[in-house]
Amino acid sequence: PTPLGPTPKLVIDLERMQQLPQEKAGPLARYIATIQSQRGDYNGRVLSIRQEDLRSLAVIYDRSPADLTEELINWGVLDPEARRAVDAF
Ligand code: C2E
Ligand code: C2E
Ligand code: C2E
Repeated sequence: PTPLGPTPKLVIDLERMQQLPQEKAGPLARYIATIQSQRGDYNGRVLSIRQEDLRSLAVIYDRSPADLTEELINWGVLDPEARRAVDAF
C-alpha cells in the first residue's frame, strides 16, 4: 500500500452527466444506461464503474484512458481522485 491509500473507484456523477450537452455526453450516457440496466441499479445519484469500462469508453471517444479521464474530470462527471485509478492501469 502507498501513502495515498488504495486505488480509488471510478464513480460517475449521474446528475452532472444529465446536465451535459447531448453531443458531449451521448455515448457516455448510453454506456452508463447499459450498465444500470445490467445491474438493475437505476436509483443512485452516482454509479461506480469498472476500470475495464473506462478503457472501453476511451475507445468509443477515440482518446487514451488518461485523456478521457481528464475530460470527464473537466465535465465534473469524475472526481479528480480518479486520476490515480487511471495511473494504475
Ligand atoms: P458478471 O460479471 O458475471 O457478474 C455477476 C455478479 O457478480 C454481478 O451481478 C455482481 O453481483 C457481482 N460482481 C461482479 N463483479 C463485481 C464487482 O466488481 N463489484 C461488485 N460489487 N460486484 C461484482 P450484477 O451486478 O447484477 O451484474 C450482472 C451482469 O451485468 C454482470 O455479470 C456483467 O455481465 C454485467 N455488468 C454489471 N455491471 C457491469 C459493469 O460495471 N461493467 C460491465 N462491463 N458489465 C457489468
Ligand atoms: P462507496 O463505494 O464509497 O459508496 C458510497 C455511496 O455511494 C454508496 O452508499 C451509494 O449510495 C453510492 N454509490 C456508489 N457506487 C454506486 C453505484 O454503483 N450505484 C449506486 N446506486 N450507488 C452507488 P451505500 O450503498 O450505503 O454503500 C456504502 C459502502 O458500502 C460503499 O462505499 C462500499 O464501501 C460498500 N458497498 C456497498 N455496496 C457494495 C458492493 O456491491 N460491493 C462492494 N465491494 N462494496 C459495497
Ligand atoms: P468493488 O465492488 O469494491 O470491487 C473492486 C474491485 O474488486 C473490482 O474493480 C474488481 O477488480 C474486483 N472485484 C470485485 N468483485 C469482483 C467479482 O465478482 N469478480 C471479479 N472478477 N472481480 C471482482 P473494478 O472491476 O474496477 O470495479 C470497480 C467498482 O465498480 C466495483 O467496486 C463496484 O462498485 C462496481 N462494479 C463493477 N462491476 C460490477 C458489477 O458487475 N455489478 C455491480 N453491482 N457493481 C460493479
